[in-house]
Formats: sequence, C-alpha cells, structure tokens
Amino acid sequence: MRGYAAVLRAEMVPDSAPERVLHRLGFRTEDVRLIVLSHFHADHVATLCRFPKARVLARRDVFERIRACSPARNLRHGIFTELLPPDLAGRLIDVQARPVVHAGPPLDEGRDLLGDGSLLAIDLPGHADGHFGLCFPKLPTPLLYAVDAQWLLRAAFEQRVPGFPASLVAEKPGQLAHSARLLTAFRDAGGHVMLCHDPDPAPFDLREPSA
Ligand SMILES: [Zn+2]
Repeated sequence: MRGYAAVLRAEMVPDSAPERVLHRLGFRTEDVRLIVLSHFHADHVATLCRFPKARVLARRDVFERIRACSPARNLRHGIFTELLPPDLAGRLIDVQARPVVHAGPPLDEGRDLLGDGSLLAIDLPGHADGHFGLCFPKLPTPLLYAVDAQWLLRAAFEQRVPGFPASLVAEKPGQLAHSARLLTAFRDAGGHVMLCHDPDPAPFDLREPSA
C-alpha cells in the first residue's frame, strides 16, 4: 500500500472518509446495502471492509483473475488483495450477469445494474482490467461517471492519454484513447461527464460542511 501511495500520492482526506460523508447524509456504513465497484485498484477498495452488510456489484471474472494472480503481478497493476474483504466472493453480484440493454448513442449498450434502466455499467477499457463507468441515462442531463477512464476531463476531451504516473498503472494503455473518445462523444451529445480524480468542482459534489 505504501508503494502505491508513494507512486500515485494517494491519501485519505479526513472529511472524505466514508463514515463522515455518510454521517452528513444521516446514515452509517452499516446502512449501505449495495456498492458498485468499477475496478479493483487499491484506492477504490481501501475502505470496502467498512461496509460489512453491502453486496458488491463488480466483475466476477476480474475478481477471479486477481485471486489467481501472483502478488507481484497484482502489485504492478495497483492491486492489493489484502485490502479486499475476506467474504467478498459471497457478497459479490456479477455485473456481467446483469441484462445487456441499449444505452443510446454514443454508448451503444450497457449492463442494467438495478433492473429499471436508471443505472448502466458502461465498458471503459484501458485503465484497469474490466474497468467500467456508470451511466445515469434518466437524469434531466444524462450523466456518465467515467471513474478512472482519465485523470482530468480536460485531458480526455483533448484526447490526451494519461502521462506518468497514471500511465504506469494502466492495464492496456492503447485502449485509453478509445475510452477518451467515448467520453468526448457523450459530452458532444449533450451529456455530462465526471471523473473520480479530477480536482475541478463538479455539480454532483457534496458541499463541504460549514465551519
Ligand atoms: Zn484506478
């Protein structure tokens, strides 16, 4: 974990800890029943153990590949299996078993995660094995949360592939450009795109607590 943190300068901001964020919304981590896991990088699974009652929507094929890999190979791709809850296999719901639905141009198709067409998993390859984003097609302005398909929206829209150190972690750097083109096409079609690590404010950010 220290190696990953050192390379990508990852750190947990206290006010962003899941307990604090949920408390501000009136919930506890035990109240969370469903988590969507877009990929298995350390910074996306580091707090999974704090949600003991949640089912986890994720790619079972990727999870099995990770379990079969050597620690050294996983480490090269930013994956630390010791961060995963020991009972994850039993709580995992396979995204690939969800129905395929038409997602509309430019996304073509996605996996209907909730069964009502409100939340679709969209393949965004390149960043990590099986990496997918989330489309909310029924919002007044459809939203594509593209997670780690790119680091910065500006770079994605300019079709720039991530530089070092993000490129170091990328599973298939050659596919990052394809995913970036999809983000740009979604925006050009009138949709809203968000990324996980872009520091610019986004309309769905929670407001910081007032001092
Ligand atoms: Zn990642």
